[in-house]
Amino acid sequence: MPQTKQRNSSVDSLMRLQTEMIACSRCPRLVAWREQVAAEKVRRFAGDDYWGKPVPSFGDPRARLLVVGLAPAAHGGNRTGRIFTGDRSGDWLYRALHRAGFANQPTSVHRRDGLKLRDCYITAVIHCAPPGNKPLREEIENCRPFLISEIELLSRLRVVVALGRLAFDATIALIGLEQPARGNNAARARKPNFAHGCEAQLRGGSTLIASFHPSQQNTFTGKLTEPMLDRVFDRAREIVRG
Ligand code: SF4
Repeated sequence: MPQTKQRNSSVDSLMRLQTEMIACSRCPRLVAWREQVAAEKVRRFAGDDYWGKPVPSFGDPRARLLVVGLAPAAHGGNRTGRIFTGDRSGDWLYRALHRAGFANQPTSVHRRDGLKLRDCYITAVIHCAPPGNKPLREEIENCRPFLISEIELLSRLRVVVALGRLAFDATIALIGLEQPARGNNAARARKPNFAHGCEAQLRGGSTLIASFHPSQQNTFTGKLTEPMLDRVFDRAREIVRG
């Protein structure tokens, strides 16, 4: 297939995938929770119309950088309908992406605020807000086909930034690690321990970079600082531009 046609077909497929995602009701517990939260709301957002559906991925379909988060927040993405939008984690993430040149503005407030990602696509291990931010194993399994399809369709992928241990483990489980060449006596590639800034080579040649999740638990305690997050996205940019 000529390159332009192939590119257009990947963009169309990613858009179809997002439409499919928004209509998904594979996880009964999450369907009930996302709708309950949307109906009950919290006082500070009482006047908002909550999204209350699966939160689709967001970004540039020709991205070379993929950011993988865990799940939408109950009053963040589940309210605004855009991933990492409407909560403090998102404030940290989009500011860092803007500083690194992957976003045209440092804020993400709602779906029509003009934000555009450049060369970056954001997804999550699961696309519905889970109670207590803790998805069940079967819910991760249910949502896995979306992530598999996205990785297949992002044909220019060079770097994956995993936000948090769960996203890091899920990415390795999904893509696998690059194995040493045959004839080389080295043992099979071993999964690295999760640590902020650690890297691994994924099957197919892209690089995985681990980052602490920009959750309030990490940012309020100083476990993750803005310079630490900047180092991750500066490194991602360096690889992308390689
Ligand atoms: S978490 Fe994923 S698989 Fe489960 S209902 Fe939401 S979109 Fe569907």
